[in-house]
Amino acid sequence: MPLQPSCIFCQILSGEVEASFIYRDELVTSFMDIRPLVRGHLLIIPNDHCSSLADLNDALGGHMFIIARRLAQAIRQSKLRSEGVNLFLADGPAAGQTVFHSHLHVIPRFAGDGFKIHFPASYGTRPSRNELNEIAELLQKAMHLNGKFYR
Ligand code: AMP
Ligand code: ZN
Repeated sequence: MPLQPSCIFCQILSGEVEASFIYRDELVTSFMDIRPLVRGHLLIIPNDHCSSLADLNDALGGHMFIIARRLAQAIRQSKLRSEGVNLFLADGPAAGQTVFHSHLHVIPRFAGDGFKIHFPASYGTRPSRNELNEIAELLQKAMHLNGKFYR
């Protein structure tokens, strides 16, 4: 989709809104997150307006991951404090998406950085193998694989 005037990330791409850029190529742009969870937290966005994961094609989605991997390596090799990296993508409001121009977060991590992922109470209870198999089958059907792959 072309740039959307009301989208903050499109405004960054068009130069209307300032950003601290790290990287740009024909498909994606990367800049620093304005409210970093950890120092060095950056974003990678498509150069076209794509509101959700479903709007990305395979080449674009794959390229976002390639660049995320390169930027994660850059973080690890830089002077920024980092003992690890999280890649994070929120797709939809229920997943925490607040800017509806799809983006991949690259977040440096180190012991004591204060960033925590909160697990639900159900995390303590392991589902049965049967239940996991049923869910795997459900997803295979949704992918139209019809049992062609090992599970
Ligand atoms: P999400 O909750 O996954 O949709 O993440 C949106 C991210 O965009 C948040 O981490 C915000 O801090 C970040 N953000 C929002 N506006 C800007 C901006 N103008 N420049 C840089 N990052 C931004
Ligand atoms: Zn946009």
